[in-house]
Amino acid sequence: RAKGEGRDCARHFEKGMDQQIRLRQELENSLRSAVENKEFVLHYQPLLSPTTQQVCSFEALLRWQHPQHGIVSPDKFIPMAEESGLIRPIGDWVLSEACQQALAWPKHVRVAVNVSAVQFRGGALPSSVKQALEQTGLPGHRLEIEITESVLLTDSIDALEQLHALRNMGVKIALDDFGTGYSSLSYLRAFPFDKLKMDRSFVKNLHQSDGMALVNTIADLGKCLGMVTTAEGIETEQQLDYVIQQGFTEVQGFLYGRPIPSTSIMETHFAKALATTNLN
Ligand code: C2E
Ligand code: MG
Ligand code: MG
Ligand code: MG
Repeated sequence: RAKGEGRDCARHFEKGMDQQIRLRQELENSLRSAVENKEFVLHYQPLLSPTTQQVCSFEALLRWQHPQHGIVSPDKFIPMAEESGLIRPIGDWVLSEACQQALAWPKHVRVAVNVSAVQFRGGALPSSVKQALEQTGLPGHRLEIEITESVLLTDSIDALEQLHALRNMGVKIALDDFGTGYSSLSYLRAFPFDKLKMDRSFVKNLHQSDGMALVNTIADLGKCLGMVTTAEGIETEQQLDYVIQQGFTEVQGFLYGRPIPSTSIMETHFAKALATTNLN
């Protein structure tokens, strides 16, 4: 009997595997056609200086407008896009779309674009960025590239060269999700990042005693290394007060604004500026 059950189990398992492979294949196919049919859209979330309340930049966050499933969030499809290589055409589209849309904003406001480690493979990222800047006419200093430390873990010499090439175009480099990776802190000396973005899990854990200590430490680390320090995931006034008190120079989170379509940016975040220009 036990043997029979084992066989059933194995068959069931195989069936599950088959189905999983089929589902993955389906996702890959629909992701491929999504690139061709331009089913992607960027939403934007503001990053502000907590002292002046001024918007410094907007982070471009990718959404997939799936014909059947509606809006799909990046966590659901970026891993597949990375595995299949589709992240390259998608990433190039994100870069040029973000640069294009940033042209409509006040000139002191930058746009931040997330770039995956896979986009560094082969060394083509600087030319993709250059192309986006040249085609749109956005000055390099208005673009910020957000990377995670995984970029530095895979053939880091090549990645460092590319980061320097980006820097030479005036582009700012931010280290995203800081504190969640597994490498040593020495990579902070390998490349002089412009910005340290503390992962939002730290703000989420502020009610724990060691949570506070970690946030203080990250603020000090960024300050010592001369970087802009960003606290992500600010949802409450208490969290905001705490990170300001610790010296974070930038904040981002639902308290100040959720990611919104580009068409709503001016009225949502620059209503006053719009009103005065209309009066003039
Ligand atoms: P990320 O770069 O760390 O972006 C921040 C994420 O936190 C966003 O999720 C944002 O909506 C969310 N968030 C912001 N403020 C708050 C808050 O106060 N509370 C909470 N609970 N969440 C907040 P989203 O848009 O789902 O993006 C998830 C991740 O997908 C991003 O994390 C980024 O790693 C990746 N991603 C997004 N767009 C792109 C892209 O164009 N290219 C690549 N390669 N990755 C992207
Ligand atoms: Mg980011
Ligand atoms: Mg982040
Ligand atoms: Mg994240």
